[in-house]
Amino acid sequence: MNLSAPSQIANYIAGSMQAPLNGKYIDNVNPATGEVYSQTPDSDIKDVEEAVGAARAAFPIWSTTPVEDRFKILNRIAELIDENLDALALAETNDNGKPLWLSKRVDIPRASSNFRFFAAGIMHFNTESHNMEDKAINYTLRKPIGVVGCISPWNLPLYLFTWKIAPALAAGNCVVSKPSEVTPMTAYLLSIICQEAGLPPGVLNILHGTGPGCGSAIVAHPDIKAISFTGSTRAGREIASIAAPMFKKVSLELGGKNPNIIFADCDWDKMMRTTLQSSFSNQGQICLCGSRVLVEESIYEKFKEEFIARAKKLTNGDPLDEHTKQGAVVSKLHFDKVLGCIELAKQEGGKILLGGKAVKGTGRCENGLFIEPTIIEGLGPHCRSNMEEIFGPVVTLQSFSNEEEALMLANTSDYGLSATIWTQDVSRANRVAAQVHSGIIWVNCWLLRDLRTPFGGFKNSGVGREGGWEALRFFTEPKNVCIEL
Ligand code: NAD
Repeated sequence: MNLSAPSQIANYIAGSMQAPLNGKYIDNVNPATGEVYSQTPDSDIKDVEEAVGAARAAFPIWSTTPVEDRFKILNRIAELIDENLDALALAETNDNGKPLWLSKRVDIPRASSNFRFFAAGIMHFNTESHNMEDKAINYTLRKPIGVVGCISPWNLPLYLFTWKIAPALAAGNCVVSKPSEVTPMTAYLLSIICQEAGLPPGVLNILHGTGPGCGSAIVAHPDIKAISFTGSTRAGREIASIAAPMFKKVSLELGGKNPNIIFADCDWDKMMRTTLQSSFSNQGQICLCGSRVLVEESIYEKFKEEFIARAKKLTNGDPLDEHTKQGAVVSKLHFDKVLGCIELAKQEGGKILLGGKAVKGTGRCENGLFIEPTIIEGLGPHCRSNMEEIFGPVVTLQSFSNEEEALMLANTSDYGLSATIWTQDVSRANRVAAQVHSGIIWVNCWLLRDLRTPFGGFKNSGVGREGGWEALRFFTEPKNVCIEL
């Protein structure tokens, strides 16, 4: 198999590649160079209708296909992703702007892990039985839902797309999916992999297009019974308002404004190294990045000095260069948004300690969208800069004097996705972990992922959990059978 990015992407419907029915396309831009390098279908409701028809037709057979056979096909997809690591990583980097080494080490390997994990998971998935002493026995059947919709964002394109599709397919559903229109290429290449792996036609349909044009038609389609969405809180709210009156199942993985709580007794070197990553990895465009850095007063000045010195070394550059630490941000729209947030922080009285500006690229990247790693201090917990998601290479610093204040600052947020706690005091770690209002807590580490654990947020960070049994439960409908003895 020889995968390479085409100049025109196609939809994957009923097992074949199809042009959008309206004939319309969107430019696909490489954010590191500014070059329009391919065309993405601007699909609409008509393509969604076709895809839903194909998925409905495929469902009776796929849902009754033995799990051993589903396991084999999903594993084959995982193998083909691994075999095509270089081509997929290059496509991801050209679409997204992230360093190529990051796509190779994180994004693409995780995409194959997702398929492998849920292929194995469905083989071990079991259901409950409840015994009413000698009166009756209940057992729960779990059936695939039918046709489900999966919609994903641009920051970890293939990684998050497959995180939804793999459990949906493993559980026996047929899928109508849409990757972000900003980063469609690896999802397109996945369609070719699925053909090669022998996935039956219609089981997975991949449509390309915008949120309003294509995503909302997926959400509103009456034959799509569940929606798994990852993206902004704004879009999540719109999706919920359409899906709720239709009584669809929804899983919403939304934005974050995650606190990184650093106590004076932390393992200093490990904390510094990891905090640099949790602040600026993927140009800060990971929903789990710790964008609010909270530091105990007694080490605040020392932390600030060393953090700035280390962040200064995170130079922006060509994502294809293996020495590049920071690539481009994903799009002009997002570039303008992040710079606008930095301006707002200044207006709110924030002091820019490092960065704060766009960086001019060189060579083939002279029109690229680069932003310096940016560190800001002097802002209170309630200002917009500390309340709203920026989703770029920008962090704020705040100090706290005790555990109580640290918790107050951490919990002053409408979001509740993740939090990181740095301390060597086990009791304190447990105490703080229990009181931070977030769905995912890391103690003395960050982004250490066990795919079996529940993944998702509190408050405006979403509804429901992904990962492990949670995902397989989401993509199945439970039915209780009670037998009187
Ligand atoms: P976005 O909400 O703009 O778009 C996400 C996806 O939804 C895209 O495919 C888009 O086309 C589609 N979409 C947009 N509006 C829609 C609508 N009304 N109906 C249906 N589909 C619609 O988000 P983005 O800018 O692509 O991604 C960044 C956001 O994603 C950030 O807020 C980030 O925190 C969040 N995110 C969350 C997680 C998580 O696990 N909680 C992970 C990654 C990213």
